[in-house]
Formats: sequence, C-alpha cells, structure tokens
Amino acid sequence: MSSSNKQAGSLNEKAGISSPEITNASAISQIKNKRRQQPSADELISGILSGNRTALSRAITLIESTNPEHTEKANEVIKGCLPQANKSIRIGITGVPGVGKSTFIEAFGTFLTQLGKKVAVLAVDPSSSLSHGSILGDKTRMEELVKDENAFIRPSASGETLGGVARKTRESIILCEAAGFDTIIIETVGVGQSETAVHSMVDFFLLLKISGAGDELQGIKRGIMEMADAIVINKADGDNIKKANMAKVEFNRALHLFPSKKTAWQPKVTTCSAITKEGISEVWETISEYFELTEQTGYFGEKRKEQNQFWMMETINEQLKSNFYNQPEIISQLEQIKKAVQNNEISPFAAAQLLLDKYKKM
Ligand code: GDP
Repeated sequence: MSSSNKQAGSLNEKAGISSPEITNASAISQIKNKRRQQPSADELISGILSGNRTALSRAITLIESTNPEHTEKANEVIKGCLPQANKSIRIGITGVPGVGKSTFIEAFGTFLTQLGKKVAVLAVDPSSSLSHGSILGDKTRMEELVKDENAFIRPSASGETLGGVARKTRESIILCEAAGFDTIIIETVGVGQSETAVHSMVDFFLLLKISGAGDELQGIKRGIMEMADAIVINKADGDNIKKANMAKVEFNRALHLFPSKKTAWQPKVTTCSAITKEGISEVWETISEYFELTEQTGYFGEKRKEQNQFWMMETINEQLKSNFYNQPEIISQLEQIKKAVQNNEISPFAAAQLLLDKYKKM
C-alpha cells in the first residue's frame, strides 16, 4: 500500500469507511455524478436571476471555455439573462502596475457595498494567458471585498487575443448584471491596447495615477488622458499629500487643453488614499455627478447603444479571424507560405490572397 493510500485508509477508518477501494469507487462515482449534475442552461439562468453566485461563476466558466459545446450553452445562458441585464453602471479603472488598483478597488468596492450596492469586479488582462495567471482581479489582492457577500470578484479570462479576452469580459458583464450586481468595475492594466477595449465597454473611465517626480504628464499617453472621465491621484497620504495636490493642479491644467467631450462633462481630478480611505467618497461623488448628467442628456443610453453595435462588429471580426486561423488546412499551410514570403518567392499580398481564396472555398 502506498503511503497516500495508507493515509486515505486511516482517514476512511476514522470516517467509518472500511476499505480504500470502496472510497476510490465512491469518489469516482461522486465525480461522475457531479459531471452528470452539470446544471442545464435553464438551471443556470434561473440560478443567476435569483442572484446565486455559484451559478454565476459556473456560467462565466462556460463563457471562458473554448469547448464548442460550452460556448453553445454559454450563448443560451447569455440570451436568457439579457432581458435582465443593462441595469447597472459600469466603471473602468486603469493604471500602471503598482499604482494601487487592487487596493483602491478593495477600498472603493467596500465603500459601495456599505452604501448598499452590489459590486462585481471583472478584469481585462490579455497577458494572463502568457503569465499563466492573472494579476488583475486577483482575489488574494482584495481580501476584504472577497469576503463581502455583496461583492463578486472574477479574475481576467485568459485568451490568446485581447479581442477574445475582452469579449468574454463583455459577456460576463451581462451575467453579473442579470445576477443583480448594480455596479460593475472592470480593471485593466495601463499598458497596451487593453484600455481602449475596456473604455468601449464601460460608462465611466477612471485613470488611477500617483504623483511622480514633478513632471506628472511625462510618459502618459495622450489617448488615455482623452479617454479618462476622472483622474484620481492615489497614495495621497503621509509625506505624499503635498505632491499629490501639486499633481492634481497639473493634471487639471492639462485636461483643460483637451477639446470638451460630447457629454459636456468636464473630466475631474481628485486625490485619494486607498489605504487611509481619504478621498474615496469624493470619487463616488464625481462618478454620481457624471451619471446624473449623462442620464439627463440621454448620453448614457446613446453611448451604450453605440457600444453594443461596436461589440457586435468586434465579435464578427474576432470570430471570422479565429475561424480562419483554426482551419486545419490554413494551419498546415501558413508556416510554409510565411517562409515563401520571407524568401521573396511570393508577395505578402498575393500570399494573403492565396490563403483567403482557399478559405473562401472551404
Ligand atoms: P496595482 O498593481 O495597481 O493593483 O497596485 P496594488 O494595489 O497592488 O498596490 C501596490 C502597492 O502600493 C502596495 O504595496 C500597496 O499597499 C500600495 N498602495 C496602494 N494604495 C496605496 C495608498 O493609497 N497609499 C499608500 N501609501 N500605499 C498604497
């Protein structure tokens, strides 16, 4: 008997089970039962609509799966949840690693649940498929919020492409909303294209910054400044308060140089400390003001409609692309044709056309 079997044997004795073989057999049948017990799409839908977090998690796992059967079931669940979605506010939060995103979301999320809100935290981190694990939306980094029964935290889906990860998050938003989460926070890291993807799925976009060596605007991408509805300078505590206030002035000045937004909303700059919680309620005030204004002007609904159209087009593009690259014939010829292009045996355009023509005939 191996040592693990011996251990299992003694545990079984304690539990009143006589033989490890019996346990093994019962464990296997339990697993089989569990497999058999995979909830149906209808069960998942009714679980989600009644606010059951296990059902929500399971459905998101289906969304994230690459198994076509799961995708089909996920689509059914999304369809069933859609009529109950849309009743939330969606807030995007970006910032470079170390700026304090998870500490901020922990403080801000807890502040919101204390106001009686139900908060879901999702993340978009395409690099998670490379690093084999997401650093965003990581539960261990939000210890308090994860225990909060009015919060739901889900790390980033992993995937080969930003488009794929973003689509999965977009679909997960629908399910979270149907489960009654009224405030959806989407976290993304401030590098690469992921901010643009997140910006296109949220109502309000918040850029988290820290005060630097005085030249606050250096290295900050203009595009991100333009996307931001608010800039929050975090870590405004201790010796840092003065610097944070100076940064606030500088960002405010810079923001005034941008053309005003369609919304008539003037982006705001505030300071806060995710650790002392100073300034957290002001962030919420800013966001609430924004929602009040955009609801009044009708911009809120308009933007969501535009975003839905955008996501439809994105999904088509994404699926066409993945369908193309997943065709066995394309897979088998792609490398060879790439080499031919490299060796100037065929032009890149002719090569692309060749493969596309093959694909069209499939
Ligand atoms: P993320 O990578 O953007 O998610 O950043 P984290 O939330 O992991 O924070 C990075 C580091 O900054 C951690 O050591 C935090 O404790 C610290 N930190 C976050 N917010 C604050 C803050 O408001 N004040 C201070 N002094 N430190 C903070």
